[in-house]
Amino acid sequence: ATPTALLVGTGRGSQLGILIRGPQVLEATRRIDTVVLDKTGTVTTGKMSVHQVTAVGGETDTRVLALAAAAEAGSEHPIARAITAAATDHPTADTFQSTAGLGVQAVVDDTLVLVGRPAWLTDQWAITIPEAVTDAVRTAEQGGATAVVVAWDGAARGVISVADTIAPTSPDAIRRLHDMGLRTIMLTGDAEDVARTVAAEVGIDDVEAEVRPEDKYRTVTRLQQQGRSVAMIGDGVNDAAALAAADLGIAMGSGTDAAMEAADITLIRADLSAAADAIALARRTLGTIK
Ligand code: ADP
Ligand code: MG
Repeated sequence: ATPTALLVGTGRGSQLGILIRGPQVLEATRRIDTVVLDKTGTVTTGKMSVHQVTAVGGETDTRVLALAAAAEAGSEHPIARAITAAATDHPTADTFQSTAGLGVQAVVDDTLVLVGRPAWLTDQWAITIPEAVTDAVRTAEQGGATAVVVAWDGAARGVISVADTIAPTSPDAIRRLHDMGLRTIMLTGDAEDVARTVAAEVGIDDVEAEVRPEDKYRTVTRLQQQGRSVAMIGDGVNDAAALAAADLGIAMGSGTDAAMEAADITLIRADLSAAADAIALARRTLGTIK
């Protein structure tokens, strides 16, 4: 490939709102046959809102939401933003810690408050999940919403369901990727039901759900070992390792700095159709080079 043609390609990219790290990146896309996508903030808008609060064991919805918000105030996760925005008033946590892909823990008024994935609360914290909580989680997930459990003083106190919407351009972008002969796989830390609902709505081929952040990286390298040439598209801190490992890393410009630093391409126009544009552009650019 001549450097001039590649530079023309990168110049056209910046006009389209696609920031390409360097001319050599266009060459990497030639062999791409598989596109791995994160869900939240990549296929969906990433702007989550609280759909429902279900308090159990005599607690009130207001108190469940307030203590969850106190625990989530230190987190930048879309789930945390939704919960803190929904709580009109909340106490301040004294300590805070988050565990990527699982949840947050905080001490609020001398009480340990946990918000996270149901399995994390049972496995890591030995919290018993009552049937009312399991039911609320199932109902939320079957409806395509993400459910987190709120616990304090060693017991589950409620469920908060949050959801965002599929970005309007995602279905068409996936169709274009398929038209280019690419296989699509969605990888998410979210629950199976939620992941399947979103994937079906946009037409993504395969789904791997309940994936831990370190497993996103492993999935990319596993696909590469199977001989696939992989583009990864993501926005989160939890996508950075996978973005760096992929043959082509594409970050959403609306995402975290960690994702953009790890990527070869950043989509300033943070929508998936820009990813389809980027791949089409690279193919066209290289197609003109003999
Ligand atoms: P994704 O792959 O969709 O970006 P993550 O790996 O960030 O998802 O999170 C996976 C799951 O971990 C979430 O669906 C949620 O159950 C839990 N989780 C992650 N961060 C938080 C948080 N700040 N508060 C509560 N739960 C969280
Ligand atoms: Mg994400």
